[in-house]
Amino acid sequence: MINYLCRVAHLTITMIRECPEHGPFRGERCVCGKEGHLVLDDAKTEKIGRFISGALRHFPDDLGLAISSKGWVDLNLLSEVMHERYRWATKKRLIALIESDEKGRYELQGERIRARYGHSIDVSLDFKQNTNPKLYYGTSQEEADIIIENGIKPVKQRYVHLSASAEKASEVASIHTENPIIIEVDAKRAQEDGLPMIQATDEIVLTDAVPPEYLNRL
Ligand SMILES: [Zn+2]
Repeated sequence: MINYLCRVAHLTITMIRECPEHGPFRGERCVCGKEGHLVLDDAKTEKIGRFISGALRHFPDDLGLAISSKGWVDLNLLSEVMHERYRWATKKRLIALIESDEKGRYELQGERIRARYGHSIDVSLDFKQNTNPKLYYGTSQEEADIIIENGIKPVKQRYVHLSASAEKASEVASIHTENPIIIEVDAKRAQEDGLPMIQATDEIVLTDAVPPEYLNRL
C-alpha cells in the first residue's frame, strides 16, 4: 500500500518569491513576468514545509499545539513555535508559503490554520461532499490484487486519499512504483450507499475506507 507520509516528503520544493502586484509565488518569475523579491529559498521552504506538515498532520501534541477535532490550530501559536525553532521563520513567511502552495495543502481561515489532507492523527475533517462520480487510486502490481479483494484501507494515515483523475493517481503512485496500476472507484454509488467522501482539494478526496465492491481495476 502506498505510504502517504512518504508521498508528503516529496514536496515540490521551490523557492518562494513575492511579486509587488500579485503576492507570493513559487519559482523564478510571477505569472506577470516580474522576478519580485526572495521570501524563502529552496532549503528554507523545505524546512518550513516539513515543520508545518509535522505540526498540523502528525505531532501537534509534541509541539504543545492544541488541535481541534476538525484539524484547526491557532495560527499565531503555530508561528511562535515555528519561530522558536527557526529564527528566520516569521508568520509572514509562513503565510507566503501557504498562499503560494500549488497543491493547496493548507487552509487558512482568519487566525486559524489546518492541513487539508495527509493526517496521521485522528481528525474529523468537514469538507463538502465529493461530486466526482469516479475517483482513482494508484498502487503497485502486488498491492492491486490485495486491494481488489479487500478494498482500500488507510495505512499510517487517518483517511484513504483518492484522486479526481486517473492521471493524478498515476502521478502520485509513480513516486513509489514504476508501473502503477490504477483502480477506479465508483464514488457515486459508494456515496449513494452512505459512504462519506469529502473533497479536500480539487484533486484529492478523503474517505475512511473503500470496500471492494466499488473498485474496478483499469
Ligand atoms: Zn506579478
